[in-house]
Amino acid sequence: MKKFLFIVVIVLCYSCSSNKITEASIKKSMEYLASDELQGRATGSEGIEKAAVYIEDYFKSNNIKPYFETYRDSFQLGEITGCNIVGVIEGNDPKLKDEYVILGGHYDHIGKGKTVEGDSIANGANDDASGTIAAMEFARYFAKSKSNKRSILITLYSAEEMGLKGSAHLAKRLKDEGLNAYTMINFEMIGVPRAKGESMAYMSGYDMSNFAQILNAYAGEEVVGFFPKAKEFKLFYRSDNFPFYQELNIPAHAISTFDFTNFDYYHHVDDEADKMDYVHMKSFMDKMIPALEGMVNAETKEVVLKEKDE
Ligand SMILES: [Zn+2]
Repeated sequence: MKKFLFIVVIVLCYSCSSNKITEASIKKSMEYLASDELQGRATGSEGIEKAAVYIEDYFKSNNIKPYFETYRDSFQLGEITGCNIVGVIEGNDPKLKDEYVILGGHYDHIGKGKTVEGDSIANGANDDASGTIAAMEFARYFAKSKSNKRSILITLYSAEEMGLKGSAHLAKRLKDEGLNAYTMINFEMIGVPRAKGESMAYMSGYDMSNFAQILNAYAGEEVVGFFPKAKEFKLFYRSDNFPFYQELNIPAHAISTFDFTNFDYYHHVDDEADKMDYVHMKSFMDKMIPALEGMVNAETKEVVLKEKDE
């Protein structure tokens, strides 16, 4: 009897350790990636190497396979070697699995910032450990649920802060290899909530495709909205989604919850793990799951670029 109970408990624990996204799991990754030990994750530094190893270990232990021979997609910028980390969750549909949805965020940051009270490490919690962790959590979710008909590439970039160099390298490589890409989402600064009454998140390049409308339809509510400042500041062209749009000619946008009024520490040494809102982050990721599931499982490619009219 005891043995039987023991087995029941093990089975229950296994199922509760499921694919659920938890604040604890988000926080664990955040407290490491944005720790002082990683020295602000500048491309080519010892600190970013530690971040790369952390993401690789996370992929390994959650059964997310390398897309290339290893998880690393390395590139050279003068003296500096950078590397993106790329994992894949194969789709479960014999036909649709040849189509890829690309999710990602940049895991590099600026290293040092302007010293404030003796602190000079720019930890980059919101920018962009938050987006990196969102992509990692979605990877873990789908690797466990195996609920995706299309294949999903999880792509974490280096050298964003040096001018989108990592994502540009990867987008070109995928194009050269003839990847059949459907859509791309770049998660950028999702660590703090917007004011009540605003859409939870917004999408850059909102009117370049029907992406936001389709995602919201899958989600059953408005998760991503239009943010006028994103258009005014041309955010579409300023983050890692842009090279994917350019190279692969697919709907490729950034989703963010940073709106210039809700976070005072952009590229500041106080962009730290304790400034993040973990309830918000989990809630955002939970709302994105049905949106992503709708997209990776739709029978046809419902997300499309709009015809250019200018
Ligand atoms: Zn960023």
